Amino acid sequence: QFPFGRRLPCDIYWHGVSFHDNNIFSGQVNKFPGMMETVRKITLSRAMRTMQDLFPLEYNFYPRSWILPEELPLFVAEVRVMKDSDPSWKPTFIVKPDGGCQGDGIYLIKDPSDIRLTGSIQSRPAVVQEYICKPLLVDKLKFDIRLYVLLKSLEPLEIYIAKDGLSRFCTEPYQEPTLKNLHQVFMHLTNYSLNIHSENFIHSDSVNTGSKRTFSSILCRLSSRGADVKKLWSDIISLVIKTIIALTPELKVYYQSDIPAGKPGPTCFQILGFDILLMKNLKPMLLEVNANPSMRIEHEQELSPGVFENVPSPVDEEVKVAVIRDTLRLVDPQKKKRKDAHAVSNWIMFPRDSLLRAVGVFCIIWSMKDKQHKHHSLKLSLKLKFYLKLGLCPSLERVPESSELLLDAVPAERAEAGAPRSAEPGLPSLCLKQVFPKYAKQFNYLRLVDRVAALFIRFLGVKGTTKLGPTGFRTFIRNCKLSNSNFSMAAVDILYIDITRRWNSMGIDHKESGMCLQAFVEAFFCLAQKKYKSLPLHEQVASLIEFCECHLAALDEKRLLWGWG
Ligand code: ADP
Repeated sequence: QFPFGRRLPCDIYWHGVSFHDNNIFSGQVNKFPGMMETVRKITLSRAMRTMQDLFPLEYNFYPRSWILPEELPLFVAEVRVMKDSDPSWKPTFIVKPDGGCQGDGIYLIKDPSDIRLTGSIQSRPAVVQEYICKPLLVDKLKFDIRLYVLLKSLEPLEIYIAKDGLSRFCTEPYQEPTLKNLHQVFMHLTNYSLNIHSENFIHSDSVNTGSKRTFSSILCRLSSRGADVKKLWSDIISLVIKTIIALTPELKVYYQSDIPAGKPGPTCFQILGFDILLMKNLKPMLLEVNANPSMRIEHEQELSPGVFENVPSPVDEEVKVAVIRDTLRLVDPQKKKRKDAHAVSNWIMFPRDSLLRAVGVFCIIWSMKDKQHKHHSLKLSLKLKFYLKLGLCPSLERVPESSELLLDAVPAERAEAGAPRSAEPGLPSLCLKQVFPKYAKQFNYLRLVDRVAALFIRFLGVKGTTKLGPTGFRTFIRNCKLSNSNFSMAAVDILYIDITRRWNSMGIDHKESGMCLQAFVEAFFCLAQKKYKSLPLHEQVASLIEFCECHLAALDEKRLLWGWG
């Protein structure tokens, strides 16, 4: 811990909340710049909308959403049209404040006119979303899944998914929403932080009973009832990969701004928490992505009125210790060095030794300044216990990365057969399974906005910015030869001003002026529609990307030749 700052460079930096340390020039940081902003409810909804516009079928795992207050008229109009076309449709909507967490400020409504417009919606924007009325129930209770995902690298994209997760249960039997039960949070919201206050909440020492269970225990149960858990697991993997594909363009803009290419800087990785709801028909739906999933492995227990104590939570330990241990195994800088040196055999597994090495190898920084983190701060004794549990030792030279088929790693099988043995002596096999680039071939066609973002970044010009100025936009148009007699440079300027002004009027980030990535994507889609009129949107966009990339490659070649000349 370095609560007051740090002098020496480290191999791994483990920040409490976010990436905000300008003094890191090497090593690996456990947070990506801009991740917190990218997964906020509004930003996530926008990114998903862009992907839904391009690939509606592939992205139907995210509920239809509108952004408030700016899309309130659109929300009202679209709901009216849908109700008119299907009078039997009796929807429910869930309103979620942007940047909220733990169920804070969330409420359900039956009609757009029920949105609470008084003051807060202007000062605190929100997302309103179609409520999933028919979730899968276990023991008559609604539950959601928290899955841990490691984004190990952005370029090239590397994603790992933990084989097991948590299932968090409501504490009141579920009923489909009616005007009478809309306000019952213990029935509709699965947040642990809310349900813990219910008198029905059950703390259990077993991983397959109580209000918080392992996801593998649910899969076991579903499997014994004949459900196709392999298909479910495959759908979940696909949901995770597609969601990260939707987030990467924005992340790349933040990344180049904080860690410009060619300058010394750290690389980043991050553990993300995916919140997923299963529908009755077992279709997984994405609720949200958490940049800072809680890694607490104990919970508070009231010993006597007003006297609380932290006690271990076996379910949290089972899932989270493995996630952190395997993240460190995968990013372990010593692994590479040892590989190079070909000499590791005399490193032995001995708990105390392993603890000392762990502390030596990994400099772990908890950012004590962040209030949020105080909440997660552990006492030293607990922390030592935790490191021992991680079993960190340097005998990690071979990490088997992608030897399994997509559906081999079904958690239910693991629960049935017991944890499989690892190729690494003394350590269980990795709980984190690589899914990307392993399944890249199936998903690469979705990465169109990534390529649009690459064009955007190329024309950003000054390092450190995230917004494109009017000159940069003009240069983009000129270099890609997009202007012609039908589309003059004056029209280019008008397009830039129109779109930029609109995005800046609703944007949260007013620090910089200029065109943000989402505005550029909108302008790009506009240009693609103009140029390739009769094609479906994703083909229009793909064609324009190819057109631009082709012209830019020719330009680069020319410049190279001039350079040689
Ligand atoms: P928060 O960040 O405040 O936890 P979430 O988006 O995770 O916000 O929503 C809180 C809870 O509300 C979820 O855990 C889930 O139980 C419920 N929920 C959220 N969105 C939906 C939805 N579209 N349909 C059904 N339930 C939902």
